[in-house]
Amino acid sequence: MKKHVAVIGSGYVGLVTGACLAEIGHAVVCVDNNRKKIEVLKKGGVPIYEPGLEEIIRKNRRNGRLTFTTSIEEGMKKAEIVFIAVNTPPKPNGEADLSYVEAVAREVAGLLRRPTVIVEKSTVPVHTGEKVKQTLRFYGRPDAEFDVASNPEFLREGTAVRDFLHPDRVVVGVESARAERVLRELYRPLKAPLLVTDLKSSELIKHSSNSFLAIKISFINAVANICERTGADVTKVAEGMGMDPRIGKAFLKAGLGYGGSCFPKDVSAYIKMAEEAGYDFELLKAVQNINDEQRRWVLRRLKKALWTLRGKTVAVWGLAFKPDTDDLRNAPALDIVRDLLSEGCGVRVHDPVAMPKAREFLKGVVFARDAYDAVKGADAVALVTEWKEYKDLDMKKVRTLVRTPVFLDGRNLYDPAALAGEGFQVHAVGRTPLN
Ligand code: NAD
Repeated sequence: MKKHVAVIGSGYVGLVTGACLAEIGHAVVCVDNNRKKIEVLKKGGVPIYEPGLEEIIRKNRRNGRLTFTTSIEEGMKKAEIVFIAVNTPPKPNGEADLSYVEAVAREVAGLLRRPTVIVEKSTVPVHTGEKVKQTLRFYGRPDAEFDVASNPEFLREGTAVRDFLHPDRVVVGVESARAERVLRELYRPLKAPLLVTDLKSSELIKHSSNSFLAIKISFINAVANICERTGADVTKVAEGMGMDPRIGKAFLKAGLGYGGSCFPKDVSAYIKMAEEAGYDFELLKAVQNINDEQRRWVLRRLKKALWTLRGKTVAVWGLAFKPDTDDLRNAPALDIVRDLLSEGCGVRVHDPVAMPKAREFLKGVVFARDAYDAVKGADAVALVTEWKEYKDLDMKKVRTLVRTPVFLDGRNLYDPAALAGEGFQVHAVGRTPLN
């Protein structure tokens, strides 16, 4: 049954949500207060890089199911479901900044004209639903009819469209049979497993899921450190662990730590949330520390390999926080590049898609034309983001371009023996001994 939906906030999550809901048959208006973004979208462009997104936006703009506006009022004209998909960035103390959610709730309150389900799509701490409800009551007409629901988003950047259209599960937290019915109808075309919970449990599912994945990553990075000190190979350890279905092999890849707009902030927010609830989430604090330390792996190894770094040149392959996205938020590469610059090192960077965004805030580095250009005259090459195209590079050619053949594989993309066979001194996370 076709629903009229407004999605407020058209970033990675809002835009994918809006486009995919249009794709499964609903009439969607995507709203954003960033004029530039909406202008791009109205002209048929897509402000973010996300495989498959451009095609479904084009298709659903053409069939009239997907439109864009900067006005919440216009977006809500027919809406019976309103998604709040704005950003919830971390405050300096780690807590989630909910002022964008509050601002939207306040504006939505004054525009409620029919029974409406207001859905938290943004990742928000437990109890946010109650606050949204209170805001809607404070600023809305006394007779306004609404339900507040939670519907956390589990999409992964890089595979967001596929994840949205073919989810492992859809979670909805509701307080009324009406909200449950409306959301069941909305998601019915996906034919996905749907878990209905109360509001608070649904809110906690998102933070718990992301934090658990962060735990897996930090765990295997801790194991990588032990491997480097004992001569074991972390990829083999992970393989052996992952064959146990209770453990599973996903997220057991040792590397340079997690980044992006979600894990770092969600782990911090969970620690704060727990603190407010009277619980010291020490486990997550350790996860954070391991992650921060892991980002320094490149610098530590470079110092071992090159002794001093002042005046040396390092090529960095990959800037985005993971492959298949141009998202640089909290990308390990940014910390690594800044560390290198502060050591007086020259840095030549390359990324298949994130270069335009990187130019905005990475200063003092050389932006190379391609991966080969990046390694010209380099004293070391560091693979930081495991883009597929880096896997297929001609390492013989790379060897001829570098000044000294030091290779740091921060994501275990390559076979260390094969690289060594090309004449490189190889450093691979959890696979090559420290000494
Ligand atoms: P984003 O920064 O890409 O997008 C947020 C958008 O909201 C921006 O375009 C901003 O201009 C807009 N906005 C802010 N205030 C507004 C207002 N008052 N009116 C209209 N628009 C407004 O953020 P994102 O990555 O899409 O994340 C959104 C939420 O979803 C966050 O809570 C995040 O934690 C969560 N989330 C993100 C991902 C992900 O992979 N990016 C995955 C799951 C959940």
